[in-house]
Amino acid sequence: MQNILHQKSQGKLVSGYLFSCPDKVTLNEVLTLGAKIILCNENSLDNCPTCQKIECGSHPDVCVYPKGDAFNTQDSQDVIDDANKKPILSNYKLILIKNLNNSSEQSQNKLLKILESPPKNTIFLVSTTNINKVLATVRSRLLKVDITPFDSESLCEMFSEYKNKEDFSLALDYTNGYVGDMEHILTDENFIANYNLAKDIVTKLKSSAEIVNFINPKNTKSQFNGIITLMQSMYGDLMLLKAGKKELVKNKSILSDLSQIQDEFSMKALTNIIKRINEVNKKQYSNVTLSLLFESLLTSILEVKYLCR
Ligand SMILES: [Zn+2]
Repeated sequence: MQNILHQKSQGKLVSGYLFSCPDKVTLNEVLTLGAKIILCNENSLDNCPTCQKIECGSHPDVCVYPKGDAFNTQDSQDVIDDANKKPILSNYKLILIKNLNNSSEQSQNKLLKILESPPKNTIFLVSTTNINKVLATVRSRLLKVDITPFDSESLCEMFSEYKNKEDFSLALDYTNGYVGDMEHILTDENFIANYNLAKDIVTKLKSSAEIVNFINPKNTKSQFNGIITLMQSMYGDLMLLKAGKKELVKNKSILSDLSQIQDEFSMKALTNIIKRINEVNKKQYSNVTLSLLFESLLTSILEVKYLCR
């Protein structure tokens, strides 16, 4: 963002930017902020009428896409029409395109046409949660901006109303600075229970006789989802530890617990366990009883753990 600020002050804004990071909520905030930086004449980014209009989506020179769930060929056509209209209030016409990763190749190819010959004073701000889902030809027309996650201090400020929740520091640890994840965790009342259960399964489950202790038939589908997603990230961390990449571990608050058990698993076992969890993730919409499915997952994790020593 500093970059755009600098380019604006030098009069060197380019015709298109591509913002990339894994977190949708962060990206949405970044696009709005980018629009404010470019259009705001007061550098207030908050209180001036221009910024307020951008914030509430009523600025006539800021067009936001997609109109529906995913960016489609009709959106591409509308973008072309919008981009060719002159700005009304500002020096620039801004086209914001959110989550281009959700669009088809066809609609991206159509969008490419306008990116290749952008009308004067039109600037495209495009976001994607996955850079690989954006066509190389489209990428080549945009200046790529990697979004670094927020630091703990800014997150504490943003989520100050939750500061006293017992899982606040855990959430800080776990989300790697992405606002969307942070919000999800702090508003999920089961998060800390799910987290502790996942941790116990990964670090303490040693024999099939113990499996029953980890199964709660009353768990809902969303709790079950939460638990296996957390387990998956913890097994992923064990792989990182074994590969000597301690600095990339996600579950930092249980780093020492994970370090202690890393030798119980071979790399092959961990790969297979993560594969099993993925399979269960796909299966969960069939009408198998959740607790049975969970039980068989834990059994197969133990099997894999001992078979792949
Ligand atoms: Zn402003």
